Amino acid sequence: MSSNSYRVMKFGGSSVGSPRRLRQVIELIGQHARTGPLAVVVSAMGDTTDWLLEAADLATRGELEDALTVVGRIAHLAKTNAAALHPAQSSTLAARVDQLLAPLQRLLHGLSLTRECSPSSKDKVLSFGELVSATLLAELLEASGTQARFRDARHLLVTDDAFGAARVDVPRTRERLQSSSAEWGTTVPVIPGFIASTPDGRTTTLGRNGSDYTAALVAQGLGATEVTVWTDVLGLHTADPDLVSDAYPVPHLSHGEGLELAAVGVRTGLNLVALFA
Ligand code: ASP
Ligand code: MG
Repeated sequence: MSSNSYRVMKFGGSSVGSPRRLRQVIELIGQHARTGPLAVVVSAMGDTTDWLLEAADLATRGELEDALTVVGRIAHLAKTNAAALHPAQSSTLAARVDQLLAPLQRLLHGLSLTRECSPSSKDKVLSFGELVSATLLAELLEASGTQARFRDARHLLVTDDAFGAARVDVPRTRERLQSSSAEWGTTVPVIPGFIASTPDGRTTTLGRNGSDYTAALVAQGLGATEVTVWTDVLGLHTADPDLVSDAYPVPHLSHGEGLELAAVGVRTGLNLVALFA
């Protein structure tokens, strides 16, 4: 592996869903960042995406108060995690979370008035989970001494306007990743998974569990030699081990296979290293 090539590490929702796991993630990133270029892709914390869906449904039914209560739950999880990792800055980080979620509250308010949630509005609502987790992870990394910066996937991944399951323009995405990364230097980019945008800047999502696909696209665009997908399942399995009893871990997969597997939403595992030969 050339030390000048990027490695991509992707962390799923459960990896950043509790202070204990988040602490491990920050240590891991710190260790890897010291040995060469690294890009990080992260999902929304814990069940945040499900809660956002719940909030959108409630608001669309006109139940704004309940929708905002759900937003409070999302904010609480993010603030609790951030405060546990960096107590000295807990109030700054809490203010940051509130600032990030303010546009979501306005959006939900709008939905409660129109009683309508278009696929485009739903993607906008869903985007807040990854926006919060990637922003906080970047700030927590900085606070722990690893130079890191939030890099908005909506400026990197270009899709069509099939909201909810947008199709990626792979060549344009690669171009954007290459030109943007030229300015990143040695600072670790922390990229929200799952979200992207249309060429005219409307927020899209890649479909549930789409962050693995983001990681594969980022790896491809950066010419990465390696992508590691961290979840709580051991090994990349030939099938979902919860569903297929004789699923077994595969030791190696090609770049194309990685993209394909990510696209179909296969569950990938703790410590999987996919070497792009
Ligand atoms: N947070 C999104 C979801 O729950 C994307 C992902 O986790 O990959 O579907
Ligand atoms: Mg998720």
